[in-house]
This record gives sequence, C-alpha cells and structure tokens, in this order.
Amino acid sequence: IELEVTKLERLNLIGQLAAGLGHEVRNPMTTIRGFLQILHTKSDLLPYKSYFDLMIEELDRANSIITDFLSIAKNKSTEFKRQCLNTLLTNLFPLILAYAYSQDKKCNFEPGEITELDIDSSEITQLVLNLARNGLEAMHNNGYLTIRTFMDDQFIVLSVKDEGTGIKPEDVLKLGTPFFTTKENGTGLGIPMCYNIARRHFAKIEVKSGSEGTTFLIRFPQHIGNGAI
Ligand code: ADP
Ligand code: MG
Repeated sequence: IELEVTKLERLNLIGQLAAGLGHEVRNPMTTIRGFLQILHTKSDLLPYKSYFDLMIEELDRANSIITDFLSIAKNKSTEFKRQCLNTLLTNLFPLILAYAYSQDKKCNFEPGEITELDIDSSEITQLVLNLARNGLEAMHNNGYLTIRTFMDDQFIVLSVKDEGTGIKPEDVLKLGTPFFTTKENGTGLGIPMCYNIARRHFAKIEVKSGSEGTTFLIRFPQHIGNGAI
C-alpha cells in the first residue's frame, strides 16, 4: 500500500509539472499560429499555401493534445450539482448530431426514466463528447451511434453504443492507458479522461466490444457521499 501511495504522489507531481509546462508552451504556439495565419494569406507565398495549411493543422493538433492532457492533469475539484442527466444530454445532443451528420453518420438519443444525480456538468459533457467522438470515428459504414439512459438497480446508467469496428480484445485491456491510440492522428487521452471523470463521480465504466460494435456503459450512483457508496 505504501508503494502505491508514493506512486500516486509521484504521478500527481508529474501531472502538475506537465500542466504548468502545457500552459507555458501554449503561449508561444498561439503567437506562431497568428503569424502563420497572416503569412498564409500573402499572395507571394501562395505557392506554399499547402505548407502553411499543414503547419497550422499540426499546431492545432499539438494544441489539442495539450488541451486533453491539461484536463486530465487539472487540479480543479469536481463541482457536483444535483440535476437531470437527460436535460444535460438533450442540450448536448444537437452538437453530437451536427458532428455525426458532417460525416454522414447517424445518431439517436433515447432518454429513459431516471432519477436525478450529483454530477459536474462540464465534466460529464466532456465524457459524453469523448465517447461519442470515438464511437463515430469507429464507424466507417453508415451505422448508428446510440446514446441511452436507464436505471439498473440503484444506478443511473449512461450508455454510448456504436456499430463500428469494435476493439480488439488485447486492446480493451489498454483502454485507460494514457497515449494508447490506434489512430494516426489520435492523442490517446480521450478514454483516460473518461476514466478520471468517472472515478471522480464514483461511477464505473464497463466496455463491451465485438464485431458488431462497441458499447460503453457508465454506471453512476444516485448520491455522492453520505455513505451512499
Ligand atoms: P484517440 O481517440 O485519440 O485514439 P482515446 O483515448 O479516445 O484516444 O481512445 C483510445 C483508443 O481506444 C482508440 O485509438 C481506439 O483504438 C480505441 N477505442 C476507443 N473507443 C472506441 C470505439 N468506440 N470503437 C473502437 N475503438 C475505440
Ligand atoms: Mg478519442
């Protein structure tokens, strides 16, 4: 147990250092991006337009890695508010729908009868967006992404199901490991972020995956604290 604690503390310290570093690196990146954007519209540099596009794209990619990393390393404490998960999802769904449509994919939202629960809206938004994005990215054919909520026993369950390629059994074990990605442009930080958010909500993540697709189930308790767990 002692070993575990030291390991955790060390991870925490690394997280804090990385977060600081991320912030510092971002400022010069913003400057560079600004100047690239100016140069990119100069007519005598037009022959190099594709280079500029690529530079900006790569900067944006680096920036999104930092964003994902910061939200994992962040120290901000989770702010629980008792609310209805269906309302949050109803507000969020148009965004997911628009994203899906832009890639010729479809999605459904099937809210079930659930009780209110203690959640941090921005964290849960992030979690759902990460899972939805992965689900959509896994579908090459015109499959459906389905987001559902329902009660199971005492728990409120959020399910994000896709009809995509599925995850190889050996890769399922790697889910949650930072930087594990099978995508050319992946960061491998989306799922670790989901695990962190779930942990802060005392929720459990269950993954079912096969040739017919993947389902992520997040099981939330109705109450946080007060011996509810
Ligand atoms: P990224 O999306 O940047 O690769 P994530 O942490 O979000 O990073 O996901 C890690 C890896 O887990 C992905 O690269 C992919 O191999 C696998 N994965 C996650 N969700 C799904 C899914 N719904 N279907 C298939 N593979 C998935
Ligand atoms: Mg992802």
